[in-house]
Amino acid sequence: MPPPSNARSRRAVTAYVALGANLGDRRANLEAALGLLAELPRLRLLRVSAFFDTAPVGKTDQPRFLNAVARVETGLPPRRLLRALQIIEDRLGRRRDEHWGPRTLDLDLLLYGDRVVNEPDLVVPHPRMHERAFVLEPLVQIAPDARHPLLKTTAAELLHRLQRR
Ligand code: ATP
Ligand code: CA
Ligand code: CA
Repeated sequence: MPPPSNARSRRAVTAYVALGANLGDRRANLEAALGLLAELPRLRLLRVSAFFDTAPVGKTDQPRFLNAVARVETGLPPRRLLRALQIIEDRLGRRRDEHWGPRTLDLDLLLYGDRVVNEPDLVVPHPRMHERAFVLEPLVQIAPDARHPLLKTTAAELLHRLQRR
């Protein structure tokens, strides 16, 4: 029997979400975000990295971050997942004033299976993930073999390249 026409949208995809916080109780913020993530419909939280204490990058005159990466399996399409992540940010008190400024919670969609998305408000793979040790270290901890569909290599190799630069 042929698969139903909406089989693609129903099939669960493995995705990776980056978490970061550098305001308030950083650990409590990440834990609350993971709790809300796990409660989303059509999403299973499969694995979470350790929480990494990291120096701010780019805009350096702000508090240190706590960063982590979560692996999820989801039937939510990428835009719906991004919207859900933004609602969780809002619930944790995120204010959208200063780009790259301090925040109670930042959730970025890193990878969504092998999908490539290029839209004004959603780019996947996250366009800066391969330049950021604070993303790659937790990602490699839980998924060294996760593949970047554009760079065509693994998370472990991306971290290795970044560290050799
Ligand atoms: P960076 O993206 O460099 O980590 P940031 O996380 O500080 O910066 P935000 O202010 O949180 O940036 O988000 C700006 C916009 O980025 C969001 O409104 C969202 O629409 C867009 N965006 C594009 N691609 C993604 C993605 N893969 N994950 C999360 N947001 C994304
Ligand atoms: Ca970010
Ligand atoms: Ca963000």
